[in-house]
Amino acid sequence: MNLLSVSEARERILKHFSPLDSQEVSLENALGRVLFENISASIDLPTFSNSGMDGFAVRAADISQAATLLPVELTVVMDIPAGAAPKQVLGAGEAARIMTGAMLPEGADCIIPLENTDRDGQSSAYLGQPIKIFRTAHIGEYVRTKGQDMSKGQLVLERGRRLEPQDIGLLATLGIVKVKVIRRPRVAILSSGDEIISPDAPLEPGKIRDSNSFMISALITQAGGEVLRLGVAHDILEAIRDLLDQAASYSVDLIITSAGVSVGAFDFVRTAVEKNGQLEFWRVNMRPGKPLSFGSYKDIPFVGLPGNPVSAYVGFEVFVRPALGRLSGLSNVDHPVTRVTLGEPIESDERESYLRASLKHENGQTVAYLASHQGSGNLFSLVLANALLIVPSGVKSLPIGAEVDSWLLGSC
Ligand code: AMP
Ligand code: MG
Repeated sequence: MNLLSVSEARERILKHFSPLDSQEVSLENALGRVLFENISASIDLPTFSNSGMDGFAVRAADISQAATLLPVELTVVMDIPAGAAPKQVLGAGEAARIMTGAMLPEGADCIIPLENTDRDGQSSAYLGQPIKIFRTAHIGEYVRTKGQDMSKGQLVLERGRRLEPQDIGLLATLGIVKVKVIRRPRVAILSSGDEIISPDAPLEPGKIRDSNSFMISALITQAGGEVLRLGVAHDILEAIRDLLDQAASYSVDLIITSAGVSVGAFDFVRTAVEKNGQLEFWRVNMRPGKPLSFGSYKDIPFVGLPGNPVSAYVGFEVFVRPALGRLSGLSNVDHPVTRVTLGEPIESDERESYLRASLKHENGQTVAYLASHQGSGNLFSLVLANALLIVPSGVKSLPIGAEVDSWLLGSC
């Protein structure tokens, strides 16, 4: 059988996913949610020209001859603290003491910082008193002009963007306290295997702890989904079918299983899915992660991730994260790609490979070294890695110094 390539498999999966419906959330709950609406600025920002420094608002023309040895004297006619709206127009030969963020008076066109006057180090200047200015300034100097950051009507946040902390700040500054976002995808996850026991159970000979459903739950949460954990099914057809039925009864948006999709004698997940749904494919030409299946169960999309923890992780990143991105309405579901240079030679087997690597910055380059043993059961090697290197299909080996694409994992 000709195995599906990663890109074919990805395309066949993604065409089953489109954005869910929307809901309104308050700003406090909007972090990480995907915008359902375009946001345009309803006002200019700043909304009024204001001072970028504590100092004096003056007219540039008045001080065009000022110098350290030849200061220009102006009379202080106003005091403008932040929050005040000056009522007076600044005339020729006049200065207004002004604080950072305070509104520029009409007539003034630049700010002279305190330290360029004879008031440096003094907290007060007195109305009616003269001040000495030691330098010239150009029009607009230290002025944060109205509309400098964004102008009224400008599109500032686009539909399909995942909201970052700075976006939340922007919404607040625009006076928006509720936003329309796309509902979080609900995802059911079940593990399977007679050898799998709960992490809080004592280890017994031949048993291993269920790491996958915890790791996959965390990945779903990180990708903005809501997790429904269904526990562990034994390698019995009925046990797996019961848990799949439970998932379907909760009308989740996606069902994920871990393990039981290889060609082993007790790999019943595929059979269980086919009883009440269909499988589109069950193998992909990749490493790790070849035994990966996709289909639907009772009309709910289904992804069967491999049992080996690293394979499950890679399968999630390659196929499930983009699918959740589509459900969440993200405008871009591709991982950002970073080109890196190999710090050691790499052997591959012509399958598209996702290798765990540790990136280091050396002599102005980002250099990749393999992170420990690449066995697909070795979860610690994934913990040690900060990137996945992507070795294209058809490649048998790559020398030191070759460049490859990589996806960064967390921060390096
Ligand atoms: P399988 O797909 O059932 O052949 O499992 C492949 C490998 O993954 C076996 O070594 C399993 O013991 C391991 N495995 C299966 N499920 C889990 C799990 N939930 N957590 C950690 N390892 C698992
Ligand atoms: Mg098994």
